[in-house]
Amino acid sequence: MPELPEVETIRRQLAPHVTGRTIVQAQLLDPRWTRPDPPAAVEAALLGAAVQRLDRAGKYLVWVLSGDRYLLMHLRMTGTLLFDPAAPPPHTRVLLELDDSHRLVYVDPRRFGTGHLVHGAAARDEYLGVRIGVEPLTPDFTARYLREQGRARTAPVKAFVLDQRRIAGVGNIYADEALFRAGIHPLRPAGRLTAGDWERLRDGIEEALKEGIEAKGASIDDFRHIDGARGSFQDRFLVHRRAGKPCPRCGATIRKIVVGGRGTYVCERCQPRPRGRTSRGLSRAARTPGV
Ligand SMILES: [Zn+2]
Repeated sequence: MPELPEVETIRRQLAPHVTGRTIVQAQLLDPRWTRPDPPAAVEAALLGAAVQRLDRAGKYLVWVLSGDRYLLMHLRMTGTLLFDPAAPPPHTRVLLELDDSHRLVYVDPRRFGTGHLVHGAAARDEYLGVRIGVEPLTPDFTARYLREQGRARTAPVKAFVLDQRRIAGVGNIYADEALFRAGIHPLRPAGRLTAGDWERLRDGIEEALKEGIEAKGASIDDFRHIDGARGSFQDRFLVHRRAGKPCPRCGATIRKIVVGGRGTYVCERCQPRPRGRTSRGLSRAARTPGV
């Protein structure tokens, strides 16, 4: 699933091609994409709209359009945006044509992706405000904010990190990489983290995301650049998907455990397991086959 660095990669690649252009054709081929809005209404709103800017909020790609309109696009599990593909690819859900004859295609085999059109900045902020919390790599993303959000929470810190309403844009890959960098076991209850832990976690999240952006995202399944190329962050993973391999820091074997239903990779020497979680956390880990 594309996370913050993958969506940011798409935004950076696409922005120069679409900024200042006008949409001259819009075909929404899958009514599920705009649900509950009818595709025809969204098509009508997109037709003739100029793209003023391409923004990102968490995992959302935010199209700032003329007439104070915003198209809030989410790739979910398998969505991809392709610029000028040679032929219309299978699973094409949306087709946009620009006034310079270039075409943009939204492809999504599993059809979980969405596109929501709103009128006015207030409606945009309201839509995003209930769905996503503070954006990493901004001044508001502080250890203090994290500590306040995590206070008294008994849920594992990994579940906390994945909660989009608290931290925008972090998914399974970057959560594992961030917790490893911070030396924090994913099963530790969020409310038990110390001020120092929160500092290291904040830094770990930002470092992992920055490196992901620098590597132009991770392509372990469907994620592709707008020209179909793959990202390279999967070659730089420290722990994610590296079960059975040595920890890059201490050499101990990386294990796969399950936290909140998600496959989770951890070096239990660098990330000491919390007391009282031993039997459950580890017995599940022992039953989970590597990679
Ligand atoms: Zn280690």
